[in-house]
Amino acid sequence: SKGAGRNRVAFFETAMQTELEERLALEHDLAHAIGTDQLDMHLQPQYDASGSVVGAELLIRWNHPERGAISPARFIALAEETGIILRIGDWTLQRACQALRELQAHGHSYPISINVSPRQFRQSDFVSRVREILLEPQAPADRLTFEVTEGTLIQDIQDAIDKMTQLTALGIRFSIDDFGTGYSNLTYLKRFPLHELKIDKSFLHDTPADPDNRAIVKLILAMARQLNLKVVAEGVETQDQADFLIAHGCDSLQGYLYARPMPISQWLQSPST
Ligand code: C2E
Ligand code: CA
Ligand code: CA
Ligand code: CA
Repeated sequence: SKGAGRNRVAFFETAMQTELEERLALEHDLAHAIGTDQLDMHLQPQYDASGSVVGAELLIRWNHPERGAISPARFIALAEETGIILRIGDWTLQRACQALRELQAHGHSYPISINVSPRQFRQSDFVSRVREILLEPQAPADRLTFEVTEGTLIQDIQDAIDKMTQLTALGIRFSIDDFGTGYSNLTYLKRFPLHELKIDKSFLHDTPADPDNRAIVKLILAMARQLNLKVVAEGVETQDQADFLIAHGCDSLQGYLYARPMPISQWLQSPST
């Protein structure tokens, strides 16, 4: 009936209204969370085939005073849309430098990887912002890796090459995140000053049992070897996955099989890191 149709429209309007209000509230709260202890960083270790720690990825955490932990999958997208990501990006880089100094003080010299968002990378003054943050005393640029996605790089290839070249000159290394989920065009890969590829965890699903994923992972590893790139596998959860990856030449492994992302205080106390 017409009445039911109108009710349904009203229902959707209310749902949209609620979603919008929810987003606005979250956006407001996120803007205010930066610079407070609500935002925190976790580090997740990366291991080589012999089980030594060879790196760490910095992953942001938001502890909302009323809602509790909010997943980065939810708030990073929002931050990207609203531009708040630019402030988060600066914060992340500062925290990474701090963490590197702390690790160094404990005798650890491996690099930290940070996630650089598309909007952050696209800023016309991205390079000078990074340079400014790295001006702090003892900021160890040569132990920083920037993870960028293929989507970020192909938006403006020449601009990406220029920025990466300038940052590489400072000692920063580049890694392609979520590799395989984007465009994966071999001819363009060679043009970027890259150090590493990160195989997306979706390709480890049911690997080595799944023939398609098994083939993709082997192909990525073979290709990376040709291009002289290191490979990190993320989302390693089982020993079978680890054995398969190592057997095919994967350089480093990151995932719940070894360790979950953890606060640096825990990192410094843990025997496995
Ligand atoms: P990502 O960069 O692909 O990060 C890997 C995600 O996989 C992380 O989720 C990590 O906690 C999770 N993970 C690690 N090991 C395993 C495993 O064995 N199994 C499974 N199922 N998952 C595993 P997280 O921390 O929730 O972050 C989600 C996404 O949010 C990240 O995906 C990244 O795109 C974004 N993100 C996180 N921190 C930052 C940040 O500081 N800046 C920016 N721009 N983005 C961030
Ligand atoms: Ca990442
Ligand atoms: Ca991923
Ligand atoms: Ca990612």
